[in-house]
Formats: sequence, structure tokens, C-alpha cells
Amino acid sequence: MKNKMFKRILYGGDYNPNQWPEEIWSEDLRIFKQAEINSATVNVFSWAKIQPSEKNYDFSELDKVIDKLSQAKYDIVLATSTAALPAWMSKRYPEVNRTDYEGRQHKFGQRHNACPNSLVYQKYARKMAEKLAERYGQNPQITCWHINNEYGGQCYCENCAKAFRVWLQQKYQTIEALNKAWNLEFWGHTIYEWDEIVLPNALSEGIGKDKTAFSGISIDYCRFNSDSILANFKMERDAIRSIDQTTPITTNLMGTYKTLDYFKWAKEMDIVSWDNYPSYNTPWAQTAMRHDLMRGLKNGQSFMLMEQTPSQQNWQPYNSLKRPGQMRAQSYQAIAHGADTIQFFQLRRSVGACEKFHGAVIEHVGHENTRVFREVAQLGAELNQLGDALIGATSNNKVGILFDWDNYWALEYTSGPNKDLKYVDQILQYYTYFYEKNIAVDMISVDSDFSQYDLLVAPVLYMIKAGLAERLENYVQAGGNFVTTFMSGLVDESDLVYLGGYPGPLKNLAGIWVEEIDALAPEQANKVNFATKEEYECHLLCDLIHIEGAETIANYSTDFYTGTPAITKNSYGEGKVWYVGTQLEKNGLTYLLDQVTQESKIRPIAENAQGLEITKRVIDDQEFTFVLNLSQVEKRVPAIFNGKKNLLTNQFVSKEMVLKSFDVLIII
Ligand SMILES: [Zn+2]
Repeated sequence: MKNKMFKRILYGGDYNPNQWPEEIWSEDLRIFKQAEINSATVNVFSWAKIQPSEKNYDFSELDKVIDKLSQAKYDIVLATSTAALPAWMSKRYPEVNRTDYEGRQHKFGQRHNACPNSLVYQKYARKMAEKLAERYGQNPQITCWHINNEYGGQCYCENCAKAFRVWLQQKYQTIEALNKAWNLEFWGHTIYEWDEIVLPNALSEGIGKDKTAFSGISIDYCRFNSDSILANFKMERDAIRSIDQTTPITTNLMGTYKTLDYFKWAKEMDIVSWDNYPSYNTPWAQTAMRHDLMRGLKNGQSFMLMEQTPSQQNWQPYNSLKRPGQMRAQSYQAIAHGADTIQFFQLRRSVGACEKFHGAVIEHVGHENTRVFREVAQLGAELNQLGDALIGATSNNKVGILFDWDNYWALEYTSGPNKDLKYVDQILQYYTYFYEKNIAVDMISVDSDFSQYDLLVAPVLYMIKAGLAERLENYVQAGGNFVTTFMSGLVDESDLVYLGGYPGPLKNLAGIWVEEIDALAPEQANKVNFATKEEYECHLLCDLIHIEGAETIANYSTDFYTGTPAITKNSYGEGKVWYVGTQLEKNGLTYLLDQVTQESKIRPIAENAQGLEITKRVIDDQEFTFVLNLSQVEKRVPAIFNGKKNLLTNQFVSKEMVLKSFDVLIII
């Protein structure tokens, strides 16, 4: 695909004129024009309208919408509408309705509700994608195809069970291999026939919502379910691609959403897009990390911000307004981390149903004289000014953090040693260090080319899949620096423990042996002592470590393992490996990672710029440095930017310039 997928920053969002009388549409476009809105995503939930019955299709209204937007030269993001079943289909073919984790087959209702293995659903979804491509594929204003919407969830119906057995036969070939992979000798669960396999839900192996008696089958079901839904995406994509060979095809993802293996998905998508809905108390670092993960899905390729709210959400417990300037700042945060589009959900606020209090560009008052609209219009004017300067820009970061959905599933299915261990939380602790130091990071898959990084960080790298340990060894051998932690190197891809001592295949690399793992309850803590006498609290888990070649960086200072190593460093080939055997309090982690970054020769974009978010994008040797003040107070702009130009105002950064809360610079 081309470096520049779009000619301009798409600015707009979900537009549902089908929910409104036609006389309002012209008024909509009049208002949008004042905000320089140039793009609309249409047909996201219109299946029941454009296929009112099994035999009948009716595109008359969609034709009018697309004509109107095309005449106004909008970049149209055309959705395929297959994310909510029409009532006639649910009624006539109950098999299209999902069966939930408790084994209840659902009736008509909600959305994201189709069984991915229903042949009826597949038949009609494919046909719909085909018909849309035939009808609109040649329209030059169709800029992007948006398949389905926020794919997710699981189904546990009989169709899925049958398809799962086929998937397992292809994977394992023999029943013996499957019994071994899932360790079914445990509790005498040995299987002799493929049709003895039942889905791992609340009626079988499930322990509560989140745990399982047999992680092997449950992890495989996550993989199978992700593959099944991905097959739905590919089916619609291929139907469109056979008719329209050039327009990019996407579907909107959801950051660190657990259920789908997005690295696998991204390989099938022309461009990644995602929906950014932080809550009032989501740390800015977490939003930045999600953006970086979305950019990482396709090895650094820029992405679309398919949805964000201009003001508030409706579905969170506390739906705060975005403060003045916040929407603009958040939009630039997305662009700073790789977004080529800024799109809202939605352009006009619904009159009824559960999203009627979800913010929109045009509020219920119906005109443009609102705070929210003024802010949308200001941003629109700025983005219009930026033109295509940033489209397709990438980054050249030197720190990579590993993220892996198999690890996510396996780690969180594991029973013990500590129920509070959460995958994304652990990754975020490390990400936050780099974020706060203004060291830009790539979020990467375990299959990435590691050689472009000076430092790799892999918190809780619990599952080591075939070949990974060797690739990490080669990376460090050649001079790479590697940080890993407790709960790493423990199991293979079937969640079977590597025998011979923890951390299994990472033992040589780390130069240690972990004999036992202690779990600390929330009210408990231990302490670690660095050789420099610095002392910090630690929590959650404590590895009891023996040195096998590594040096000790810090020891525990309480409990029966006082004086034993908590953090180690090993020289391996030309590189170094740090093993962090416990969860350090924030200051302790900062103290450690300051040493790691120094020894790995990692430099921040700007020193001593606490409270500012500073990151870079690069295209054709032109660097764009984003300086964001996401705090509530004014911040001094770092002196290194003195005399440089701010692209947003075309003014030069003056000495001792101050950036107001939520203000932004793009420095060139
Ligand atoms: Zn199903």
C-alpha cells in the first residue's frame, strides 16, 4: 500500500442521516462546512434499512446520502452495516444469534450479535459487501471501506463447537497430540473422539467468568474465536476486493481489547483504525500506549482514529465533559502517535436509544452555537491548514515494548499465584516510565524484527513461543539490551510449563534460576535494596532467585528471603539482560530504568520536560516534534526548541515560552 493512503487528514466521523428526516441533511452539511469537516462514515448500522427482508434490497436512501456527500466532495468512509443483525434474520434463522458463555442462545437484540460460524450470517454478510461494492465501488469519493464495526465477543453455539473441532484437527492432527497439549491426563479428562470436545464455557471448564480448569482448551478457544471472526472480516474484504481493487479496507479496532489477536488481524487490513474512548481517569500514558500499539500492529504504519467523542460518552460510569481545549489536545495526541484521520462518533446526536447522551458535533440543540462545535471548528481549520504534511509519517524509535495476545490470554487464565496480576497493567507500568521521560516507544509483536531497537522491554513474557528465546538470544548477543520480569519464560504455547527451572528458555539469557514465586496480598509489601543503598517497596509477586552468572542489582530486605536477589543484570554476548523479580513501586522502577536507559544509551527527545508529552513523527527526512501540555497547569517549553517554528501558528518558539494547559506545538 502507498505511503500516503489519503490526500488529506480525514476530518469527520460517523454520520447517520438515515435517523433523520431528509430536510435536515442540507442543514447538517451547512454546519459541517463551518468546521471544515471533509469526511463522513456512513451505513454503519443500516442493514435492516438496506435489506428490509430476505429477498429485498433497497438502496434508495443510501444512494441519496452518498450522492449528497459526493457532490460536496466528502471523503466517504463506507461501512458494510453487518455488525447488527436485522430482526427478520434473527427470527427466521435463529442460528445466526449468538450463544453466550452461560450457554444461553440469544434472541434478537443488541449489536455485535452474529455467530461468526453461522453459514446464514456469512452468506448474507458477504452478499451485502458485494452489493455495496458493486453499487458504490467506482465512486471516487469512497475513500475507505469500513467493514462491520468493533468486531468482538465470543459465541458458544453448536455451529461454533463443530467448527472448533475442525480447527483443532487441523492444528493437532491427532487426538494424542491434543491430549498432550492440553495435559488432559490431569483430572482424567482424556479425549478419545473429536466429538467429545465441548466448548470451554460456564457449562464445562470455566471457573467463573475469567478462569478455567484447562487453560489449553481455553486459550485455543480464544485463538479459534479470533480466527473465526477474522474469517468474517476477510470474507467481506475479499468480496469488496474482487470488485474494487484499490480503495483501502479497514475495520475499527479497540486498543488493548482482549478478545481478538490484533497483530494477526492487522496483517489482513490495509490500514488499522481504532476507537479511542478513555474515561475521565484514564492516565494519558495509557491512551498514548494504546495509540502506539495501534501503530505497532502494522510495523509503524500510520492509522485512522475512526472514533472519538467531541465531548462526552454515555456508556461509562461517569461521563465527564471534555474540558475546554481537551478534545483538540487529545486529537493531536492521536496524530502525534500516528493517526492520519480525526473522526468523531458522531456528527449529529441521536434522539433516542442508549447513545442519545453520547456527544456529537451537532448537539440536541440543533445549531452550531455551542462550545463543542466551536472547538470542533477550530480544530477543523487547523487540520485543513496542515494539509497532507503529516500523512503517512512514521517514527524511528529505539525502544520496543513487546505485546502479545497469546500472553494476554494465557497469563490471565492462569490460576495463581496472584489474582491481581493483569497483563496490560504490567505493560503500562513500564510504558509509563518511558512516557514520562519523553522517550518514544514502539509497541511491537513478538514476531517483530528486534534489530532496529537498542532496548527491548518484555514485562511478564509468560509464554515463550517456538523460536522466540533464540531470537532474543541473537538480539542480545549482537548488542541488544533486554529487560524482562517475574512471570516470564514459564510456559510454551500450549501453556505447559518448561521443566528444568524458571524462567525456562530465558534462563541462559538472564543468568539466573528462579526457585519459587511468593505472592503478596494487597496489604503486604517487601522491600528491595539497591547496592547504592536506595530502598524501595515492592508488591504483588517476589521471585526467589539464584544467581547463575548474572550480577545482583538489588536484594530483598525483609521476610525469610532477605538478602537474596530481587533484580539482576547479566552480560550476554555484546548485550545486557535485566531481570526484575518483583513489582517495584513507581520510584523504584524509575530508579532502575534510569540505569537501564543510561547503559543502553537511550536519550529522551527533550530532557527535564516533566509534565509535557513530547514525541516525533518523521516523513521524507522532515521531523515533526509534538509538544503537548496535557496537564492542568502551564508548562515551560524546553529550551532546545527555542527559535524553532511551530507549524500550527507559523510562529517561532520564543525563549522561556510557556504552554497553557491543553495547548499543543508541532515543531519543525
Ligand atoms: Zn456460534
